[in-house]
Amino acid sequence: MSQQFVIAIDQGTTSSRAVLFNHESELLDVSQQEFTQHFPKPGWVEHDPLEIWDSQFAVLQKLVANNQLRPDDIAAIGITNQRETTVVWDRNTGEPVYNAIVWQDRRTAARCDEITAQGWKDRIQQKTGLVIDAYFSASKVQWILENVEGAKEKAKKGELLFGTIDTWIIWKLTEGRVHATDPSNAARTMLLNINSGEWDQDLMTLFGIPASMLPEVRDSSGDFGELQFQGQGIPIAGVAGDQQAALFGQTCFEKGMAKNTYGTGCFMLMNTGSERVDSESGLLSTIAWSINGETTYALEGSVFIAGAAIQWLRDELEFIESAGESESLALQANPESDVVVVPAFAGLGAPYWDMYARGAIFGLTRDSGKPEIAKATLQSLAYQIFDVLKAMENDSGIELSQLNVDGGAIANNFLAQFQADVLQKPVTRPTVLESTALGAAYLAGLKVGYWQMDDLTKVREIEREFKPKLDTDTIERLLRRWHKAVERSKQWVDKDD
Ligand code: ADP
Repeated sequence: MSQQFVIAIDQGTTSSRAVLFNHESELLDVSQQEFTQHFPKPGWVEHDPLEIWDSQFAVLQKLVANNQLRPDDIAAIGITNQRETTVVWDRNTGEPVYNAIVWQDRRTAARCDEITAQGWKDRIQQKTGLVIDAYFSASKVQWILENVEGAKEKAKKGELLFGTIDTWIIWKLTEGRVHATDPSNAARTMLLNINSGEWDQDLMTLFGIPASMLPEVRDSSGDFGELQFQGQGIPIAGVAGDQQAALFGQTCFEKGMAKNTYGTGCFMLMNTGSERVDSESGLLSTIAWSINGETTYALEGSVFIAGAAIQWLRDELEFIESAGESESLALQANPESDVVVVPAFAGLGAPYWDMYARGAIFGLTRDSGKPEIAKATLQSLAYQIFDVLKAMENDSGIELSQLNVDGGAIANNFLAQFQADVLQKPVTRPTVLESTALGAAYLAGLKVGYWQMDDLTKVREIEREFKPKLDTDTIERLLRRWHKAVERSKQWVDKDD
């Protein structure tokens, strides 16, 4: 038999990717395309679902063409995606009724406050494992139904479908034959009861969402239909939200294993096994994946703005031309500088959960310039992860001996070293930073028998380990300043603004 491959479709917040893996888990090729970010008002973030699909399909075609793949060469396709981002489309025409409302979007903050005031906090936490926040899909779907003309009536008649991005991509890949999601994505909608794995009627009623809009929930390593390619069907056999896919790709299969991904946001997840662990420190309980009908849970700390802060340095401040240049710029900073950046551009996520916090720069002096601000921005990623990791250790009662990392921004050596310093723990960076895509490939490959579980655990190649170097007095001083800055950024926006 000729060699076969698995393709991962990785639909991220800023770009669409298609990634080719072989049986040895080697990443053979990637094609990637950025797409447009729309910011119609402060705090609003949208994507065009058709542009998402076009870019995703284009990179898939490019990967296939570049590698001269024929249908028999592809064992399966896995999908991983930006989570929570909400698409509502017409079942008959396939046309989205509104842009995708992106996970970072804050427009439904007031609605979330209202629900909290009505006393839903504990019930929602118990059912969904989530805190009430505009981040999750439910309030975004409700916003579309209430603000797009005619949408509510069409939804009532069963003419509209809702999906997170996985569902939208599956629906497009299968030409409308499959309307499905997996539990790791469904768990982020604030509509799924994560204890039973079923959509929750109370929550559907609360947000005014008819059951007919919701996708079928299938196993993450499961059957999501086929992509027709040159007259043959290629199985779509694995689906997981990006962060859960990264946990799987980092082979964190055992309870207590954790990873942190530095992408647009930062997401730390710990596998908590077959039981959900509830947080006392503002972390989320979520579903990691389901395989053969068995659900694995995770604790998650979500930081909204991480690599996005580097994009801000590049695109809004125009300090750098590429994200990579942030490293050399930070190294030029005056070591005495006391600048702190709090990148609360979309409020603050775990462990603070303040939708009304906004970004701020503290400690500016007359000599503060681009290098000092760039350095403080990179440091802010590491500080946020420090806070999440401490919360996770508290909740799980497990002290992490090291941090497994991945994602685009941790290619930055300054950041990786500073992260090790702040945590006082080694940071281990694998050769393949694309754990997200690898996880989706693994889930798909397992389903079609391309891989067995044992094949996956054997190699996790370390490219570099960063050991802590800074003394503890300095770190304590830096953390004190950081926490002071965070306090001053909180509750910046008035609720009535
Ligand atoms: P996502 O999947 O969320 O789109 P990626 O894992 O591709 O994110 O990482 C891209 C993010 O990492 C971008 O926000 C970018 O600004 C940041 N980034 C990429 N390379 C670097 C670097 N060398 N230093 C700092 N940040 C970087």
